[in-house]
Amino acid sequence: MKIIKTSAAMQKLATDLKSRQKQTGFVPTMGFLHEGHLSLIKKAREKNQIVVVSIFVNPAQFGPKEDFGNYPRDLRRDLKLLAGYADYVFVPAANQIYKKDEKLTISIEGMNSCLCAISRSNHFAGVALVLTKLFNIIKPGRVYFGQKDYQQTVVVRELIRDFCFGISMVVCPIVREADGLAMSSRNSRLSKKQRLAAVILYRALLLGKDLIKSGDKNPDSIIDKMKNFLQQEKLARIDYVDILDAKNLHRIKSIGTGQIVIALAVYFGKTRLIDNILLRP
Ligand code: AMP
Repeated sequence: MKIIKTSAAMQKLATDLKSRQKQTGFVPTMGFLHEGHLSLIKKAREKNQIVVVSIFVNPAQFGPKEDFGNYPRDLRRDLKLLAGYADYVFVPAANQIYKKDEKLTISIEGMNSCLCAISRSNHFAGVALVLTKLFNIIKPGRVYFGQKDYQQTVVVRELIRDFCFGISMVVCPIVREADGLAMSSRNSRLSKKQRLAAVILYRALLLGKDLIKSGDKNPDSIIDKMKNFLQQEKLARIDYVDILDAKNLHRIKSIGTGQIVIALAVYFGKTRLIDNILLRP
């Protein structure tokens, strides 16, 4: 496994791999790796000759009041976990990705009005910008993302299509702790009490699923019941609970036969956790 720190070196390597027709699978991450990240990397290992993992806490996707400074980081531990799975780990400093006098940004108008985009207004524009750069530097044939960040997968699918990247996207299932909590780097920021309480996220999603299975077709009433359930947990503060068309994240009046996503974001203290489930009723 080789660690690469500069964009120039990574780009040179990617060009060389491409000229030798090596298929590259790429897994972008912000580090502080866990089994969820490793599931993506193992999946990439199955189908690609070369696996590149990036570790970059992207400042552009954090709002001024968000946890960029506090985001958990432990590069030494991450590199140990990656040995044996990744061929190359791209670990750029911010000045390798962003120049002082950048003039272009990415606008994702029309995709920026639901779920996480409401409380994190520039988040997905920041995600799209860094991924555009990383895709151009690493030149992968396939990229791997987790369903955990469901809205991100919808934005990335559009990004790849609209900007003609010619990359295949693979979306991998959510890896959970034994009690159902979705694995997340941010879980390490929870106190013991908050960690125990956080199991309510997955339970609320299962409640939504059960209501739909038992014939409830009204998204608003299901959302209300899920919110009431979440509010029983005093440590939880709801950001959103929503039920949307899984394909385009449009609002639905009634639950029909198309695939839907039940998604939520909840704060425990300053730590904001997200989770979702996909359903085809
Ligand atoms: P992050 O480091 O949080 O930016 O995540 C990097 C990638 O790992 C994203 O595509 C996430 O969706 C994915 N990921 C994070 N947590 C999980 C999880 N529990 N299960 C599956 N994929 C995950």
